[in-house]
Amino acid sequence: MPDSSDLRNYLHKLRNIGIIAHIDAGKTTLTERILYYTSKIHRMGEVHEGAAAMDFMPEEQDRGITIASACCTCAWRDYFINLIDTPGHVDFSIEVERCLRVLDGAVGVFCAVGGVEPQSEAVWRQAEHFGIPKLAFVNKLDRPGASFSRTLEELRDILGVRPVALSMPLGEEDRFEAVIDLLSMERLDFAVQGLGREFTSRPLNELEASMAAPWREALLEVAADEDDLLMEQYLAGTEPSPEALKSALRRATLGRRAVPVYAGAALRNMGVQPLLDGILDFLPGPDEAAFFETSTSGKTTNSLRVEADPDAPLAALVFKIFLENGRKLALLRIYAGQISEGMPCRNNTRGQAERITRIFRLEAENRTSLSRAGAGDIVAAQGLRSVITGDTITSGASSLFLEDILAYRPVISMVFEPRNNGEGEKLDEALERYTLEDPTLKVEVDETSGQRIVSGMGELHLEVLRDRIRREYRLEIRAGNPQVVCRESVRQSAAAEGVFDRELGEIAHYGQVRLRVSPLERGKGNKIVNLSAGTVCPASWTAAVEQGVETGLDSGVLRGFPVQDVLVEILELGKREGESSPVGYHMSAVAAVKSALESASPMLLEPIMHVEISVPESFLGAALSLLVSRGAKVEDVLDKGGQKYIRALAPLRELFGFSTRLRSSTQGRAGLLMRFERFDAI
Ligand code: GDP
Ligand code: MG
Repeated sequence: MPDSSDLRNYLHKLRNIGIIAHIDAGKTTLTERILYYTSKIHRMGEVHEGAAAMDFMPEEQDRGITIASACCTCAWRDYFINLIDTPGHVDFSIEVERCLRVLDGAVGVFCAVGGVEPQSEAVWRQAEHFGIPKLAFVNKLDRPGASFSRTLEELRDILGVRPVALSMPLGEEDRFEAVIDLLSMERLDFAVQGLGREFTSRPLNELEASMAAPWREALLEVAADEDDLLMEQYLAGTEPSPEALKSALRRATLGRRAVPVYAGAALRNMGVQPLLDGILDFLPGPDEAAFFETSTSGKTTNSLRVEADPDAPLAALVFKIFLENGRKLALLRIYAGQISEGMPCRNNTRGQAERITRIFRLEAENRTSLSRAGAGDIVAAQGLRSVITGDTITSGASSLFLEDILAYRPVISMVFEPRNNGEGEKLDEALERYTLEDPTLKVEVDETSGQRIVSGMGELHLEVLRDRIRREYRLEIRAGNPQVVCRESVRQSAAAEGVFDRELGEIAHYGQVRLRVSPLERGKGNKIVNLSAGTVCPASWTAAVEQGVETGLDSGVLRGFPVQDVLVEILELGKREGESSPVGYHMSAVAAVKSALESASPMLLEPIMHVEISVPESFLGAALSLLVSRGAKVEDVLDKGGQKYIRALAPLRELFGFSTRLRSSTQGRAGLLMRFERFDAI
């Protein structure tokens, strides 16, 4: 056993965190400041110059949204922070989910003018679902219309959390001049020179103290609720020690009973350092992180706690893949055990033996080669040839799968056509690479037309892919209209028989199957039941029938989409002496399923999306009528402080171009969130 004490020490000084934010809230600007202050980046790139360190793909800089999730290690005090960039757009929600899984804590960035918007609300709720403790950074306090207290109210009302301000702005909008640290009760002034890297602190004057008093009071109250001794001191009006306050607030944050909030303006270099302190003081290390649940069969989910122990068997999740000069670089979150250079391991998801050849720590401007890395850490590894995003790496054969690979459901597809054959090859190469990086993309070749059909999670997802192909491969491709990916099911029961009776390579193959298909409740999946126990036959025949049924259900009789929510009862097998064979039973079962589906009143199920819109009251009518014109069913309209929230269900087919229309009919004031809900008939 190698000496793991250094890995163990490192584990206690580590934070794996992500920043979640609505587009434009200032995530990139804040990240730049963090990287700059933690001394790992020497020139600060502003977003509008298109040079930010984390947003390195060209179309991200163009669009100003973050698609890739990179990881960057930086140092603050004597700690290390792995900063994981989470995408903010819902079209990539699987990617968001995977990123959330590898985080131990998160910082929500909110614009002090726009407040809690639907997109950030969605990601915030996902983080809540994974049990991730969070901090909030209220950004852009220098902007006209900014309000710190209103943003805190929204955190309470919309997100349902108990916000506790750890810092507050002194002045708002163009009078935002300094930050008050509510823990030390000091005024922090950020230097104009040196981009705010330096700041000075001094005790509050009388006016400042009176402004801070109610916020300080609120902070003491949250701490007192965590700790009896603090409660006694609070009631007696005695000042608690800063250490006791910190540890009570830490407990409240880890227990998700409170969310520490920091005030600032990233663009003005104000208020970022206190937030960095907060990440260390209040967010968990890998050893204190939330209970981690894993799927242990790839299909059923069993919760299993993977201890962050460097001496345990290896368990690591590949959460991002990059290709560099044809070489794969896999970003790994190591949950347990350790990896070292040259170490043999296993891609458990694909059942492949593998070897890690090199290990790197990624920093903003360079990468450091490591000889090994241990539980809790996030590093990049080279040498894993079979991996794709979402795979689990273990030391040997194991029943552990850290991600459910069946969770992806592409809902939209497009035909991608090259201009000529020569470009076809290049296009295939590009598509191969992108599907490797992103398992929510699927590429199929239509057998009859030879067309390449690309499916993904949404319109924007495929649009971004086209952009990348154009930029990175210099390929102009023609793309067909987007098509929704459907499922098929049946409305009633029907029985049918399938017979196969042919000679293949001079051997007779015979099979005869009678079966019945019936509808199951929506979302139940398919079920196959064998009722043919009366027929005495070898197990290989019944196995062949069941496989044949599955093959038959892979493509329905209407438009060839997979069949779902169908019960198949195998009623009877017919046999013929000397000629019955597994091939015969497989083929006859496929035929029987097809024929039964035909008679069972087959139906199409289309992707139904959950749509959430937030609009100021004056645009409520416009948003509602647009929804209704798209065949949506409005479920709920809520009022949150004058802002209206609409929740609706709508078929994806009707939602192409919806966000553009919504923007123009609400003068850009609406927030939109869409996510796949289920396949259903409408
Ligand atoms: P992201 O989409 O969340 O990554 O947001 P960006 O960091 O790209 O910021 C969006 C826009 O807001 C950019 O034009 C920034 O310059 C601007 N911005 C970011 N932080 C602040 C701030 O504190 N104050 C002001 N006034 N503008 C800001
Ligand atoms: Mg950004």
